[in-house]
Amino acid sequence: MHIQSDARSVVAALAPDEPVILNRPHAAARAARFFAEKFPGRSLYAVKANPSPDLLKVLWDNGITHYDVASLAEVRQTRAALPDAELCFMHPIKTTRAIAEAYHQHGVNTFSLDSDEELEKIVESCRDTQGNPAKDLKLLVRMRVSSEYAQLSLASKFGVDLADAAPLLQRTRQHCDWLGVCFHVGSQAMTPFAYVQALERVRAAIVEAAVTVDIIDVGGGFPSIYPDMDPPPLEDYFDVIFRASESLPISYSSELWCEPGRALAAEYSSLIVRVDRRRGENLYINDGAYGALFDAAHVDWRFPVAALDSGLTRPPAEFSFYGPTCDDADYMKGPFLLPEDIQAGDYIEIGMLGAYGAVMKTGFNGFGAAEHITVTDEPMASLYRGDRPDPRASDNVVSLR
Ligand SMILES: *Cc1c(COP(=O)(O)O)cnc(C)c1O
Repeated sequence: MHIQSDARSVVAALAPDEPVILNRPHAAARAARFFAEKFPGRSLYAVKANPSPDLLKVLWDNGITHYDVASLAEVRQTRAALPDAELCFMHPIKTTRAIAEAYHQHGVNTFSLDSDEELEKIVESCRDTQGNPAKDLKLLVRMRVSSEYAQLSLASKFGVDLADAAPLLQRTRQHCDWLGVCFHVGSQAMTPFAYVQALERVRAAIVEAAVTVDIIDVGGGFPSIYPDMDPPPLEDYFDVIFRASESLPISYSSELWCEPGRALAAEYSSLIVRVDRRRGENLYINDGAYGALFDAAHVDWRFPVAALDSGLTRPPAEFSFYGPTCDDADYMKGPFLLPEDIQAGDYIEIGMLGAYGAVMKTGFNGFGAAEHITVTDEPMASLYRGDRPDPRASDNVVSLR
């Protein structure tokens, strides 16, 4: 029962009243192998994109050995799912108790920071019972970089400014064997140039600080495919990052890291929803802003959709969605293209929800339930199947908002 071929067979078998999350382990496995084999360094999976233990095990089994965790709960969950994985605590603001538990109980020795206060917290929390400082710390200084090439900014909240980076790098160097620099260019970066620009800022900081740097961590931001967002091949990102990092003033033995969340998880899940009512071009569906469609509501993200009833024959028209809660904000503008004659009782599959989709579901207003079913068909789009037309040859390479 819990493995089906595709969304249509799930609807035929269950006629589900509630949303159903469809998981495609084979798609996540393919993404993991791609990063493990082709990224010219180490890939850390950013657990916040989707912390499902099943997904974590698929990634682990396919070559992802390191995990970027951002909260104590993520440390505990990831450690429970993957006892031998290397966990890196990459939130630049942590509590001393979280740092201490991560270091002393879960074997975490990699931390990021963007201030002197955080450096002091880490150093103090990792001392042994005699009060001796930890000898095995890997500390990465998070730099603030531009988010202008990404669809979702992660630029303003965290990161030390270039003007203050050199002294922080110098002070951090005194407390660790491994010093790194990290950043995040923003999520769904639509051009590799985002990383070049960020690495130029890293170069300036390293030159000014005149310290030895052992790790360059280019963070997340690697894109997936959505309607009107057809990014260049990931190989282009890897090439550009490799060349830019090779030219940094760092030693030959230094390591290159990245922290993909979206790119590793997006293809893992889709969602079946049911139309419970139609009013004009608005469809009232049973998942929404407080469920897996948070980004569709709050940042107008357009996910791909497909009607699952083959009896629908009219050409596509543009629809918006209302979610199931009583809140006006539970609205997804779209537009979503679906057959003109779609109506109450019809089912829709919404694709590419493995990252920042399935994980966003809340129980608000009593609408949190969703069964998980494994399916064996292909995701609605894939960066990894090897059959994608080269978007550089078409005229919709990049659509920046
Ligand atoms: C969210 C996040 C990631 C993952 O970002 P994606 O855009 O999903 O690849 C990686 N690193 C850090 C520090 C993050 O906060």
